[in-house]
Amino acid sequence: MTTTTRTTCAYCGVGCGMLVHQEPDATLRIEGDKDHPANHGRLCAKGAALGDTLGPRGRLLHPIIDGRRSSWEQATARVAEGFASAIAEHGPEAVAFYVSGQLLTEDYYVANKLMKGFIGAGNIDTNSRLCMASSVAGHKRAFGEDVVPGCYEDLEVADLVVLVGSNLAWCHPVLHQRLMQARETRGTRIVVIDPRATATTSVADLHLALKPGSDVALYNGLLHQLAREQRLDRGYIAAHTAGVDEALAVADAFPLAVVAQQTGLEAADISAFYELFGATPRAVTVYSQGVNQSSAGTDKVNAIINVHLATGRVGRPGMGPLSVTGQPNAMGGRETGGLANTLAGHIEFSDAAGHAALQDFWQAPALATEPGLKAVDLFAAVAAGQIKALWILGTNPAVSLPESLGVRTALDTCPFVVVSDVIADTDTTRHADVLLPAAGWGEKDGTVTNSERRISRQRAFLPLPAGARPDWRIIADVAAAMGHGAAFDYAGAADIFAEYAAMTGIASTAPRQLKLDRYAAISSADYDQLQPLQWPAPQDSDADATRLYADGGYSTADGRARFVATPFRGPAAQPDEKLPFRLNSGRIRDQWHTMTRTGRAARLSAHIAEPYVEIHPASAAALGINAADLVQVSTGGGDVLVRAMLTQRVARDELFIPMHWSDQFASRARVNVLFPSVTDPVSGQPELKHTPVSVRRFPAVWHGFAVLAQALPPPQADYWARMEITGGWRMELGGVSLPEDMTALFQRLLGAAADRAAVSHYADQSLGQFHFAAFDSEVLLAALYVAREPVAVSRAWVCGQLGKPLDATDAAALLAGRPASDGGDSGAQVCGCMGVGAATIRAAVIAGHDTVNAVGQATQAGTSCGSCRMEIQQIINGLSVKEAV
Ligand code: SF4
Repeated sequence: MTTTTRTTCAYCGVGCGMLVHQEPDATLRIEGDKDHPANHGRLCAKGAALGDTLGPRGRLLHPIIDGRRSSWEQATARVAEGFASAIAEHGPEAVAFYVSGQLLTEDYYVANKLMKGFIGAGNIDTNSRLCMASSVAGHKRAFGEDVVPGCYEDLEVADLVVLVGSNLAWCHPVLHQRLMQARETRGTRIVVIDPRATATTSVADLHLALKPGSDVALYNGLLHQLAREQRLDRGYIAAHTAGVDEALAVADAFPLAVVAQQTGLEAADISAFYELFGATPRAVTVYSQGVNQSSAGTDKVNAIINVHLATGRVGRPGMGPLSVTGQPNAMGGRETGGLANTLAGHIEFSDAAGHAALQDFWQAPALATEPGLKAVDLFAAVAAGQIKALWILGTNPAVSLPESLGVRTALDTCPFVVVSDVIADTDTTRHADVLLPAAGWGEKDGTVTNSERRISRQRAFLPLPAGARPDWRIIADVAAAMGHGAAFDYAGAADIFAEYAAMTGIASTAPRQLKLDRYAAISSADYDQLQPLQWPAPQDSDADATRLYADGGYSTADGRARFVATPFRGPAAQPDEKLPFRLNSGRIRDQWHTMTRTGRAARLSAHIAEPYVEIHPASAAALGINAADLVQVSTGGGDVLVRAMLTQRVARDELFIPMHWSDQFASRARVNVLFPSVTDPVSGQPELKHTPVSVRRFPAVWHGFAVLAQALPPPQADYWARMEITGGWRMELGGVSLPEDMTALFQRLLGAAADRAAVSHYADQSLGQFHFAAFDSEVLLAALYVAREPVAVSRAWVCGQLGKPLDATDAAALLAGRPASDGGDSGAQVCGCMGVGAATIRAAVIAGHDTVNAVGQATQAGTSCGSCRMEIQQIINGLSVKEAV
């Protein structure tokens, strides 16, 4: 019999609900949950492919101490002893936890309780620091509490949606679909503020490609203009806010001409935006990493909030600032105290009454009195030898933190490093003294909070693999081994949730919206049935909490929101002669973070299979860089080797590199080695959207493309990048000196299969072309194509032949790298759900299907999750998103 489990997606902060159907033969089918208010049944390609990422391959399934398999008893004792001895010798400030927005709220709660309540230090911070800390800080400065006032539905009832630093179409695809659908019915105007053209800007009524980091100038100018045109809501300002005069005094220095000069935008475009915002009461401003990941991120957030406060557009239908988070449970971490500068339950360190109440509630022996180290400072302290014991849970800082080369050195010099993870081999697990196997998505139970304050259950539907444990239990066991067993004696996730909910009801000096005390006595059965809910959910009210603050009542002592004066300052470092380009980084559509999960799904990897840099064609021409060349992007501190994508989506002095590639997937493509540890002074969030770099053509004399039926260690090549495909792997190769023996290179790629393989080959020494194909009983095992220039074969078609029996004609075509007949190559994948490639879509357009819907009817592309509809439109427009990759 088919069993169905209601759960939530493991990826972005949209927090989509999903139904996981398990058939009697154990196969899984995943669909969007029509009853979940975040997505109403929609899923994007990443969520739909979650089932492909499960399974034992690559899992960490037993604890490891100093490289040797151990029991849980040994590992728990070793971790407890490592932390206890560091605390005894150096004090509680000498230990730290670095946790993750992938953890569930219950895990976060227990980790924070152990560090702040029982170890007595503030040193627990989360990778959400890299994602939305500036929004948190901006909310706290403006509202008195980290509160998102609005909800997703606002996107559907707004007349104007302004997207700032957000590629919503790729990074929050389901929200983007909701917006697009609303636009079809109500004609919503869309403005996108982003230095780069993206899939999202392609649907904008107005794209403001401002200079990187100049958002504060643009928004100060908007506040000034609103005041000049008497479009401020003076009644709301007088009744519910404070500080408007100071904010206006700063904003008055930003007349149109100054804004144009600071942002590089045309005055007419700025005016068009200002007029649209001023004249449209129902306006929502969505912002994301382009705002947050900045050395002025908190000021950017407050400059945005200022214009909403000034027009009284907060917490009313279709109005308000809406921060969208990158991770599934970034907000759950913020609620429970996963950030080093908050105690728990939105209680601040400065809140004396809250501190006393929390100490009493937890019966904590030594509740921390000072904020701990924020992520970047924390790893600097590790490097400086101040942190003697570090526990990393569910994250990969060796890839994701700025100056990630230095992070690796810091981990190697730290006396005691513990890593809990689902995956055995990541760039970070390689530095651990103790490895602890954690339960993965589908195996663990708990709650997550999405970007609109909505708490949803994430439910297990798979048995916990032998050897793996839920994070909360691992932490509780270590706490017990450190002598705190009574305070961490939880029967399960429901028990922890109930305690957390009760904790949100304790006293504090300032009022808090975060109230869940209605659930303080929740039973295990009710927890299992818990429906998605938006906080606050206080004991004395059943009212829905969709929107907050429409009538004031902010979380400040006087109930008033605060305007924040935001003088403009640009990015910390500016380009110069040596480093003339501005580097931006971000996500691609079908990958997630450092690809430890999405990298296992072949249908996701088919979208973009190689690390790349977007560079303007004129800049490339000036540097002698051709499309698809390998290029080296460098700073003084590090460099990466990536493929050149020539595109006008970036300005002439700008570059863009995706953030996902780690040492598991490419030889040298971790973009965060290029970003220095520059942070926002208020939020501590690193500036990951701007740093000066240089770029040059990499002098490769050979390039290779290979498909392999089995995973092998990457070859010795200056450049390699690999991705999983159906039935094996694909790999790109390159180098500055030609391998002496191409046959030997192919044999090494074949590995043990070389013994049974029948190899065909073609070589033209004069052209530097070498093609190999290996078969076992006519089934393709591997192929390799080598050329002096970037290899020009039909990659998607070649990948599709792996593992197939090929007749003589097909085998000959395979050796040539192209199908024998026209139409055999569907091209690079555009629609991951339905497996439709660019060539198929182009053919449909040429045949007269000139709308996205018509292409969908002809090819099925874009008819499932819809994440690719922008790319289809771009193909129709005569553009291709993957112009050179
Ligand atoms: Fe998951 Fe996609 Fe929904 Fe984000 S938009 S939660 S990645 S299905």
